Amino acid sequence: MIKEDLKKIKTAIPENVKLVAVSKTKPVPMLEEAYEAGQRHFGENRVQELEEKYTVLPKDVKWHMIGHLQSKKVKKIAPFVHLIHGVDSFKLLREINKQAFKNERTINCLFQFHIAQEATKFGLSFEEFEEILKSDAFSSLNNIRVCGVMGMATFTDSLEQIHAEFRALKEIFDEIKSKFSAQLPHFTEISMGMSGDYEIAIEEGSTMIRLGSSIFGSRG
Ligand SMILES: *Cc1c(COP(=O)(O)O)cnc(C)c1O
Repeated sequence: MIKEDLKKIKTAIPENVKLVAVSKTKPVPMLEEAYEAGQRHFGENRVQELEEKYTVLPKDVKWHMIGHLQSKKVKKIAPFVHLIHGVDSFKLLREINKQAFKNERTINCLFQFHIAQEATKFGLSFEEFEEILKSDAFSSLNNIRVCGVMGMATFTDSLEQIHAEFRALKEIFDEIKSKFSAQLPHFTEISMGMSGDYEIAIEEGSTMIRLGSSIFGSRG
């Protein structure tokens, strides 16, 4: 089942769109099945679960932290995490840099933007982002690599609204790219799209989709 669903999704999406298999709450054998089918990028949203799965899965898995990350927990994933999607404060960014330095690594990050109408969702505004980027302290963060942006659309039946929110994130990405390209040489990724809305996200320019239930089944 997992193998077939993965294959179906992979053949349907454009080649330039990366697929992160969101395995949160799912048992290890299901991840192993996806791994055997060739999947290497996995996403988790809780630090402890991410650590546990990291210790048992093969070491060439690329682990994505897709959930809200507290600064005090960064040190637990800093030795191995591949990409942190939800950076939404300077405090968190500084902590990632500090822990990456301690581990003699550079950690890939995406800035999360608040594009949804729901107040509950996390993320920066463009103004907050600019403030971070223009600060002197930002230029001294040598152990982070800012790879792009991430966002989540509102959970709604309105396709128009989902289109509009993803389009807004693409516009933010384009504006940052044109304004700050010298400071952000690795700025290439737009992480947007989940099982319910990834086709729309791809239409609006997503380069990375995060799919859970469409690969592993619903989380009940
Ligand atoms: C759970 C989660 C996903 C995957 O959700 P599905 O609807 O199961 O595809 C993607 N992104 C984030 C941030 C998530 O928390």
